[in-house]
Amino acid sequence: MNGKITSWKDEKGFGFITPDGKNEQVFFHISSVKKATRKPEVGDAVVFETAKDSQGRLKATYVLLEGVLLAKPAASKKIVTEPVKKDALDYFTYFILVILFVISLGLFMKTGTPVSALVPGAIFLVISFFISSRKKQPANKLFSCSKCRSVSSHDERTVLAWNRGFNRLYCKSCHQAWLREQPKEQQESRSSYASSKPGCLGLFLVIASLGRAKARPLTKR
Ligand SMILES: [Zn+2]
Repeated sequence: MNGKITSWKDEKGFGFITPDGKNEQVFFHISSVKKATRKPEVGDAVVFETAKDSQGRLKATYVLLEGVLLAKPAASKKIVTEPVKKDALDYFTYFILVILFVISLGLFMKTGTPVSALVPGAIFLVISFFISSRKKQPANKLFSCSKCRSVSSHDERTVLAWNRGFNRLYCKSCHQAWLREQPKEQQESRSSYASSKPGCLGLFLVIASLGRAKARPLTKR
């Protein structure tokens, strides 16, 4: 719809638009005005859309000041960091794992010596664990801080966080501010957690003990 601003209360941030060829006034609030290089003024030609408010009254929802330059968008555009993606090597590894599983399942049913069939699968399971947990690099070297919105380049800390599946990343100063807020005890337990890597070794030990448990009755036979 086209119209003209016929009333504007700058200190209150609202006014009224009279649509072209009509004898009515439509309320509009500054929040509905598309950000321009200057404020609305009486007499401004506008293009607008209308909607009913919660009490059923007509109001302008989208007001564009005709012939007034629009304000520039915010300078720092937010960089969206894509989550870690599986690549061809990951899928190939999973594919091999499935094939090995099917083969060992077949051997289980055909032969009476299942432990030997498990060995290549177990070895590959360990290898595939290392493959899928290897460190990847984000596609964009820059990221937007989730708190202060500033743009920084990735460092070891943020790449590690990203690899662990965190998609909210924080710049150095926000991170340090956050660390200072944490109680001392928590800080220590968190850093000790970060330094220990139970994953790989733990999995290996589980597989090793599994193999032994099954191997023992066979060797006694
Ligand atoms: Zn920040």
